[in-house]
Amino acid sequence: MTVRTAVALTTREYHPFEAAGRRFVYMVPSAAVFGLDETSAAVLDALGERRMSADDLADDLADRFVPDDVRQTVNELMQVHAIGEAGVLQEPMSRQMPPTPFPLTTMVLNVTNQCNLSCGYCYEYGDDKIVDTENGAQPKFMSEETARQSVEFMLEESRDIETVNLTFFGGETLMNFPVLQKTVEYARGRAAEMGKGIRFSLTTNATLLRADIIEWLADNDIGVTVSIDGPKEMQDELRVFKGNGRGTYDVVAPKVRELLRRHKSRPICARVTLTRNVLDVMRIYKHLTEEMGFWEVGFAPVTSSSSRDYAIGDEGFTAMLDQFNELAEDFLEAALENRHHGFSNIKDTIEEIHKGVSKAYPCGAGLGLMGVATDGDVALCHRFAGSDEHKLGTVESGIDHGLQQEFLEKHHLANKTDCHTCWARPLCSGGCYHEAYTRYGTTARPNLHYCEWIRSWTDTCLRIYGELAERNPGYLAIFDG
Ligand code: SF4
Ligand code: SF4
Repeated sequence: MTVRTAVALTTREYHPFEAAGRRFVYMVPSAAVFGLDETSAAVLDALGERRMSADDLADDLADRFVPDDVRQTVNELMQVHAIGEAGVLQEPMSRQMPPTPFPLTTMVLNVTNQCNLSCGYCYEYGDDKIVDTENGAQPKFMSEETARQSVEFMLEESRDIETVNLTFFGGETLMNFPVLQKTVEYARGRAAEMGKGIRFSLTTNATLLRADIIEWLADNDIGVTVSIDGPKEMQDELRVFKGNGRGTYDVVAPKVRELLRRHKSRPICARVTLTRNVLDVMRIYKHLTEEMGFWEVGFAPVTSSSSRDYAIGDEGFTAMLDQFNELAEDFLEAALENRHHGFSNIKDTIEEIHKGVSKAYPCGAGLGLMGVATDGDVALCHRFAGSDEHKLGTVESGIDHGLQQEFLEKHHLANKTDCHTCWARPLCSGGCYHEAYTRYGTTARPNLHYCEWIRSWTDTCLRIYGELAERNPGYLAIFDG
């Protein structure tokens, strides 16, 4: 005889979505994805907004399912927290802090704050700049000595991490090529002495690439990301030379082609900044991959105050999202046939979904990632390098762990009350600090201006993930490990 139970149940927090003809739920906050079978889908539908006991549910669904199967499904759904006892509050948001001292895995070295371009939207020189790189007290170029100190700082702060990442950034990184060369050599030697692996990468606008630089990049396995906005008319819209204001495409294109021809040891990626008039994602993607040969392309909507004339308005965001969705379908088609596809935005998010990432912080800034300014000041990330307000130490004196702790406490998702009811929070966690600072004047606020876009894009990524999980699960192995 089955003992009837009167415990009332309700649904818990999840985001439902459909893929490959199957229903799924994305659990919040655990970030797990579950495919629903017919019984569990029926239980969740029957429960809906109501409060019912397992027996009520079994009765309610008796014309379609065996009552004991329903009860067992209810148990399973309770175990994964898709449903729970009514009146029993869900656990409050975890305030668990990362263990400290947290090892540094990536250091971004701003080897110069100078640039030969004056891109209309640049956060380093534009209207939204945080650091006064033109008139400030910082040196224009990082010295060899500061770069060496930075390497020592990184190796020390990486603690037990076996492989560290050293990324060079600017301004235009290649304007300080001699220091780059010396630093790579030094860092490689020091890492080897300490029994650590080290990976190098840099970001460049490609205007200063020359045969010997390309040779060096290839020979030293340096990962390269080129900031480029697409075909000529799009690249030339805002990516222009300082002084004469001329477009850069004609200079950049042949150099990039040469880089891609010669440098094969690491994939070469493009990073596109989308602005009001540069929003044709599909065309940009095709140009950069099929016509130029980039391995991957990542898109980022410009970070700016909404009043800038290049800022993307609401209509622009809708158009951008439509194009992202179209490109996501393109990606799916390729992934179903185990073909490479270079749309890095979707790959990055699918990897996080696959790994069940649930974040207390939007990114590694101030945690496993830090930016170093030309004078050796250490800040949250490259975008804040040189800003006294966002300084966490110096390469000479090390990280100020008190300041770091303060930053981590203040920026924990638990303090972003606006995000507490949002199903996308395991992946978004409030969004980029730099964007928040530019919009609201503080890194601590969530980026509430783009929630709709984030949720819609996350839903697309979940759907593509579900399609792959059902139709070609083997593909997802590329995200393991
Ligand atoms: S910023 Fe918006 S989308 Fe992101 S977690 Fe907060 S509420 Fe959700
Ligand atoms: S704060 Fe923004 S720019 Fe800095 S690492 Fe995080 S996401 Fe990137």
